[in-house]
Amino acid sequence: MTVRVRFAPSPTGMFHVGGARSALQNWIYAKQQGGVFVLRIEDTDAARNKPEWTEGILSALDWIGISRGSYEGPYFQSANAGEHRAAAARLYESGRAYYCDCTREDLQARTGSQYQGYDGYHRDRGLGPGPGNALRFRTPDEGATVVVDLIRGEPTFENKLIEDFVIARGDGSPVFLLANVVDDMTMGITHVIRAEEHLPNTPKQQLLWEALGVKPPIWAHVPVVVNEKRQKLSKRRDKVALEAYRDEGYLAGAMRNYLMLLGWAPSGDREIVPWSVIEDEFRLDEVNLSSAFFDEKKLRAFNGEYIRALPVAEFIDACQPWLTGTGTIAPPPWQPEEFDADAFAAVAPLAQTRIAVLSEIVPNVDFLFLASPLIDEAAWTKTMKDGSAELLDDAVAAFEALESWDAESLKSTLEAVGAERGLKLGKTQAPVRVAVTGRTVGLPLFESLEVLGRERTLTRMRAARLRLV
Ligand code: GLU
Repeated sequence: MTVRVRFAPSPTGMFHVGGARSALQNWIYAKQQGGVFVLRIEDTDAARNKPEWTEGILSALDWIGISRGSYEGPYFQSANAGEHRAAAARLYESGRAYYCDCTREDLQARTGSQYQGYDGYHRDRGLGPGPGNALRFRTPDEGATVVVDLIRGEPTFENKLIEDFVIARGDGSPVFLLANVVDDMTMGITHVIRAEEHLPNTPKQQLLWEALGVKPPIWAHVPVVVNEKRQKLSKRRDKVALEAYRDEGYLAGAMRNYLMLLGWAPSGDREIVPWSVIEDEFRLDEVNLSSAFFDEKKLRAFNGEYIRALPVAEFIDACQPWLTGTGTIAPPPWQPEEFDADAFAAVAPLAQTRIAVLSEIVPNVDFLFLASPLIDEAAWTKTMKDGSAELLDDAVAAFEALESWDAESLKSTLEAVGAERGLKLGKTQAPVRVAVTGRTVGLPLFESLEVLGRERTLTRMRAARLRLV
């Protein structure tokens, strides 16, 4: 039997990191089993779907390494509407489902409770199809539904506790539970690996498989991803969109490595491991049952390590979208013609060790390309104290006299200027840094001044000095 797994996102919003994790788990499982990964877009909720979300899913998957053309699909659930209806009709004809026209109020009046599940009122009343009549599945009165779950063992659900649930609405349209089963069946899915939040659907879905006469798949319900307050990650509250992380400058390699560590760990005391190791070692049945904390700080640290591990040339390439403002990435503050690739290449190794996400490259290097630096006024006020004007005067004079404009000479010169005032280098550099780069933190100062060049450095120092009059 060829293993066939599927990832079945609904295109109702940005692509969630939890979804990306399920996609990767499916992807690896298929690979390990010599199986097939199917992508199905569950687009039947017409009110909430948008084509751009579908495109977002495809491109985000592509980004984390599930590339277009290397899987089966994408299929669109809406294209199978005929099959969904046919299955609903089969279930009705075989007596496994029946029509019901009860409203919520009818049910409440009968049971006296707002919370009571459906009471089976129409089970044997012989109501036929008609406008407004929903189709309900007749769940067995006895026995239990045992779900085989690679992560959870064999969760068992007593059938008498499962209400006769709706499989098609009053307008005849099949609901998610049924459409999802019919698609899995039509696509020959053998293993359903998905988020834990679907576990309550599973006994119902397994009953549908059985009623339609097909052996149910093996399931694997992966625990949810939570924030630091142990709340399920929510798109309203938390940063969950994979696209947002991509645009901020997370590397795909770091992201997918991190996502796979949510609830699982490779052998040894390692977390940052090559993808091939994860593909080898990952075991679905080793995934923890407890919810997994999505720790953005840790992801950031991870990303920094991935950035530092890049060969410089690759780092330079990886920065390009932020240096030019490609696609959904905001353009940098400089004009394209102001950018100088050689100057960037000269400081790139210095930046590479300092940034955790690629978007941070921009504030680190903008001083090199802008005609005048973007002055951070708070940094200015904090740094430019009594004596800064005179210090800048002396530094300008000393720098003007330099024969060689190199980091080493700049450093020893400024050190000497500071020493005359009894200042350590850190204190002496601060006003120079703010004058030249506009900020109090950034790349190593003297290398920066070397790359910026004599004229531009001195012009900025003189301009700052004038502001201090
Ligand atoms: N479309 C469903 C979701 O995004 C998929 C459910 C499933 O994987 O079975 O939650």
